[in-house]
Amino acid sequence: MSSIALEVKDLVKSFSLDGAMINAVDNVSFQVHAGEFVALVGPSGSGKTTMLSILAALLSPTSGQVLIDGQDLAQMNEKRRVKLRREKIGFTFQSNNLIPFLTAQENVEFMLRLNGQADKAGRVRSAEILARLGLSDRLHNLPAQLSGGQQQRVAIARALIHNPAVVLADEPTASLDTERAFQVVETFAKLVHENNRAGIMVTHDLRMCQYVDRVLQMQDGKLVRAVETKKEIMELAHGAIKH
Ligand code: ADP
Ligand code: MG
Repeated sequence: MSSIALEVKDLVKSFSLDGAMINAVDNVSFQVHAGEFVALVGPSGSGKTTMLSILAALLSPTSGQVLIDGQDLAQMNEKRRVKLRREKIGFTFQSNNLIPFLTAQENVEFMLRLNGQADKAGRVRSAEILARLGLSDRLHNLPAQLSGGQQQRVAIARALIHNPAVVLADEPTASLDTERAFQVVETFAKLVHENNRAGIMVTHDLRMCQYVDRVLQMQDGKLVRAVETKKEIMELAHGAIKH
């Protein structure tokens, strides 16, 4: 039995908006095992980005718990939380936040540098992972010299390079064409499986679910459905392709 890499218990995040309180995340619980790739789907405004930001330790929940590798985020001081985020979490958000004056490869290696692992082996691995994402001829280009989709793939490489326990991606295929999107998510899935990481990908494109092990569906901040068998996941993904 593989270990639980991420555990969410009774998670709530409330925002006050124009005097009213809304629960962007409304009492959500789930677990993700090491080696498991999960899709988080749901309509716009259902709380996906809020959830991911809390899992990435970028936003504090109103109540509830997040445990990464058994460690409770809320129980740590800011210094330990920063260290855990740097070492154990990889993330890529819709805006990719690449550093403009570093090349593609340097951007990826930056994560290793933060963790004191920027050595020769790291250089080889960063080139390897960029190649697997179809960027072997773009290693030495600056972000401004790359297309939106290429930048997004660099951000995915950066999220994976330091072998974090948990990899979080918010709409990683948003600026990719369909064929490239399939390739990137397939590679993403392989990297999660091969390296025994826990992966969570937010997507509004159900076709991408064909590469995941489980689909969690959110609505109005709640988890309303979990699709867990390969057969049902394929039906969901292929149903989306037909429409
Ligand atoms: P999704 O990523 O699924 O589109 P979000 O997590 O971005 O959804 O948003 C969920 C809900 O929380 C929305 O109703 C949104 O307006 C609200 N929300 C998100 N962030 C804030 C914030 N900082 N302040 C107030 N409301 C917010
Ligand atoms: Mg969002």
